[in-house]
Amino acid sequence: MQQETIIVLDFGGQYNQLIARRVRECNVYCEIYSYRTPLEKIKAKNPKGIIFTGGPNSAYLPESPTIDPAIYGWGIPILGICYGSQLMMHMLGGKVCKAPEREYGKTLVDFDSATPLFAGIPAQNTCWMSHNDYIAQPAPGFAITAHTPNCPVAAAEDAARGLYAIQFHPEVLHTQNGTQMLHNFVYNICGCAGTWKMDSFVEHTVEELREKIGGGKVLCALSGGVDSSVCAALLAKAVGKQLTCVFVDHGLLRKNEREQVCAVFGEGGSFDINFICVDARDRFYNKLKEQSAPETKRKIIGEEFIRVFEDEAKKLGAVDYLAQGTIYPDVVESGLGGESAVIKSHHNVGGLPDTVDFKALVEPLRDLFKDEVRQAGRELGLPEYLVARQPFPGPGLAIRIIGDVTPEKVAIVQEADAIWREEVDKLPVAERPSQYFAALTNMQSVGVMGDERTYDYAIALRAVTTTDFMTAEITPLPQATILAAASRIVNEVKNINRVLFDYTTKPPATIEFE
Ligand code: GLN
Repeated sequence: MQQETIIVLDFGGQYNQLIARRVRECNVYCEIYSYRTPLEKIKAKNPKGIIFTGGPNSAYLPESPTIDPAIYGWGIPILGICYGSQLMMHMLGGKVCKAPEREYGKTLVDFDSATPLFAGIPAQNTCWMSHNDYIAQPAPGFAITAHTPNCPVAAAEDAARGLYAIQFHPEVLHTQNGTQMLHNFVYNICGCAGTWKMDSFVEHTVEELREKIGGGKVLCALSGGVDSSVCAALLAKAVGKQLTCVFVDHGLLRKNEREQVCAVFGEGGSFDINFICVDARDRFYNKLKEQSAPETKRKIIGEEFIRVFEDEAKKLGAVDYLAQGTIYPDVVESGLGGESAVIKSHHNVGGLPDTVDFKALVEPLRDLFKDEVRQAGRELGLPEYLVARQPFPGPGLAIRIIGDVTPEKVAIVQEADAIWREEVDKLPVAERPSQYFAALTNMQSVGVMGDERTYDYAIALRAVTTTDFMTAEITPLPQATILAAASRIVNEVKNINRVLFDYTTKPPATIEFE
């Protein structure tokens, strides 16, 4: 028996993969085809339903993507999303034009009538809008089923013909109950039974990457953090030796971090890829010499990172793809919601794309939340110490050393930080803070060791609980954990004679020290 299939017709929208993924999550098989695909070919797939995606064009302009009008007479349900909805209305005799008020972002939508498409959706529901044009008047035979103050036709349908138009994007996570709407379309309207079983994210993403990349060359900047590691591992699995990963040791990494990353991705590791580890420690230390202003330090590091990466990329020549570990919260944070790949990449790696000669970006994790990224990493066989890593800032330990940075200070904070993390990691996972690390205060004070006077540094321990990293609270750790760490640190780490615990929430403090 042929499996139930939904076909997504691509009109150039940014979220097309997401639409297909959501449908597959409903246990219905889904494929994406260009809007140029001849109808006969689509028909031969025997789809249970069709979804038109969004797209950058205006449906009423003559050169815009369109489709054979015969598709509306097939009797197969069609759901038009954004551009897709506008195209449907325009082709069937409705009025689409430039909206007096464009809508962008989260928008409260009023759902006017009970329809199977919106079963289980509250009368008011936040939806993600992204349009300049709007449907001023639905096509004959269509009833309006949703609106907003600026958008008279946020949804319309001609149930008898099985045609559904929605202006907003149900596939993105900002649309509340969006998955429910797609579920309703696929089950209530297309009559799917949901017998297909989704491959794991890893399996189908590897397939998608192979299809997209073909025989091309891919370059990936590996930071050793969770996102870039999982991104690299996915690409390694998909295209192997076509991938080159560049990992820059800026001398501001955590203890053993370089060794850990090299062990996994380097020679003799689990992946057959090209891996370059650049020892750029001296370059960074030289640039940072006698610099103590936090913003200056950050800028120097960001800038130098690009220079080092650039030097390596030059040696490789032009590549076809630049891979980035952008994840869904990055997309949201940048406030761009997926509309502009280029601007987001800047957000993610601080300017890299400008300096590297490449054709396109690949961002295989952009639909995932952090916990899903970690899960994918485990499926890919990455070791737990990489997968479970805490967030670590790009400027690294430089912003956990107050004042100027020297190799000696880096060594001190690395040792103390490793001990602190070791002690905290003895606690059950549920009791561990969201982020915990040591920072070197620039304060020196008098102590006594072995009957001798010392004049050494004070280290500060930090442990915070947060869900969004926008605000943070102090994690109430067992006293024994703090005492054990404090005693080990003064005993094992040279040049520290005092251990302080930072009891400041965010705000007023930030999580990092600089
Ligand atoms: N280009 C159309 C508009 O601006 C559709 C946009 C979209 O599909 N996101 O309204």
